[in-house]
Amino acid sequence: MALRKIRTEEDPVLYKISRPVKEMTPKLHTLIGDMLDTMYEAMGVGLAAPQVGILKRIVTIDIGEGPLVLINPEILETSGEQTGDEGCLSVPGMSGQVTRPNYVKVKALDEDMNEVIYEGTELLARAFCHEIDHLDGKMYTELVEGELHRTTYEEDEV
Ligand code: ZN
Repeated sequence: MALRKIRTEEDPVLYKISRPVKEMTPKLHTLIGDMLDTMYEAMGVGLAAPQVGILKRIVTIDIGEGPLVLINPEILETSGEQTGDEGCLSVPGMSGQVTRPNYVKVKALDEDMNEVIYEGTELLARAFCHEIDHLDGKMYTELVEGELHRTTYEEDEV
């Protein structure tokens, strides 16, 4: 496993739509391992493949409850609302207020290409939305209410 370079907001790859994964390959297994390593090293709670320059629909998340790998994730259901500070490993050192659903139900494939369903509230719901947006070339900065501000205290970046 290895660390990959995290692309930052001026990189056009972050604004492109990622392609679905059709089959698991040794190369993609390596990518997923590298994404987890890169996410933990950067102290992030989530990372999407386009953030390391790969336009595939793969997301890794760990909000402190163990790693989740989501391949071809789709949001099935959302409810409620939460407004809070959000950050992104591709926009280091900054955060801004974003409103997201407070509950999100997601369907995805795991690393063995088996279907999994996850439900998340609060931070996990926010992470699902933020990372799935990356797969569609959308940055959270488009959703920020008010100004982006410097992160002055330890916060989770997704
Ligand atoms: Zn992000």
